[in-house]
Amino acid sequence: MPSEFALIDRYFKRPTRHTLLGVGDDGALIAPTSGCELVISTDMLVEGTHFLADTDPEALGWKCLAVNVSDMAAMGALPRWVTLGITVPPAPTFGWLDGFSRGFFACANEFGIDLIGGDTTRGPRAFCVTILGEAEPGKALRRSGARVGDGIWISGRPGCAALGLAHVQGRIELPEPRLADCLAALHRPQPRVALGLALRSLATAAIDVSDGLLADLGHILEQSAVAARLQIPDLPAAGLERDCLLAGGDDYELLFTAAVSGPRIAALAADLQLPLTRIGEIVAAAPGELVLVDADGKDITPARRGFDHFG
Ligand code: ADP
Ligand code: MG
Repeated sequence: MPSEFALIDRYFKRPTRHTLLGVGDDGALIAPTSGCELVISTDMLVEGTHFLADTDPEALGWKCLAVNVSDMAAMGALPRWVTLGITVPPAPTFGWLDGFSRGFFACANEFGIDLIGGDTTRGPRAFCVTILGEAEPGKALRRSGARVGDGIWISGRPGCAALGLAHVQGRIELPEPRLADCLAALHRPQPRVALGLALRSLATAAIDVSDGLLADLGHILEQSAVAARLQIPDLPAAGLERDCLLAGGDDYELLFTAAVSGPRIAALAADLQLPLTRIGEIVAAAPGELVLVDADGKDITPARRGFDHFG
């Protein structure tokens, strides 16, 4: 077992790109781009709650940072710096951290983020990531901007991560190539940073889907004091696939509202090579109300919206 400081040096000290003083001193020093607003977000991952004890450490390292990068995407911000608090048991820390840090820095490198500090303690495995991003003044995307008449859009293929998890847990058996897609969504979620930046001038509100499509749309509705009517194309009629699409967590797709026309969003989708699907619209009804209709207009609103740690 290496000392705490040897461990930090070995696994978490890497050259930085845009940092004045990083890992190793009492505090980090950064110089934000002049005129930018700083966007700050923290997420915790706890063993047994957010990941299983036997999760591949490299996948976990990626995901640990990716879920925070996703918050920057949802704010329309460029992710820049991150701090990492870790609690790990004394054994088998060595090889485990090797994989974890490899996954973490793979994500950091992909999005050009500097790890600038953190804290390392012993205990049951848990991770706390704080990320800092930069937003154009007044342009950060909020949950509170949706207005009656806006279209409601979702990126990618929501529900994939939850289907992958159901497969891993042996509740279903997915055929290839669907299986590979769903496992990739579960283990290596792709934060939609480019989409978030493009949405700064297009979206009225945005959120990343971590707790389930309906649950996270609920947050936009509450904070914007509006209602929604959803008609999701190709909605599976019933069963697990439908549950995963509507209430499955862990997708990290962006859900957003926009007043602009369909063709403008379609052009953006083509540009980013990312599906963007219109799933409904903001309507004038009781704030927070969410109605889901099938192709015949029949109300099929489910009772459960998604995941809630305290629900
Ligand atoms: P202090 O005692 O001043 O809090 P620490 O001994 O906790 O300092 O940490 C030493 C240095 O290593 C600090 O710069 C801290 O930010 C960094 N650090 C500690 N743990 C991590 C980690 N898991 N990831 C990145 N940097 C870390
Ligand atoms: Mg410390």
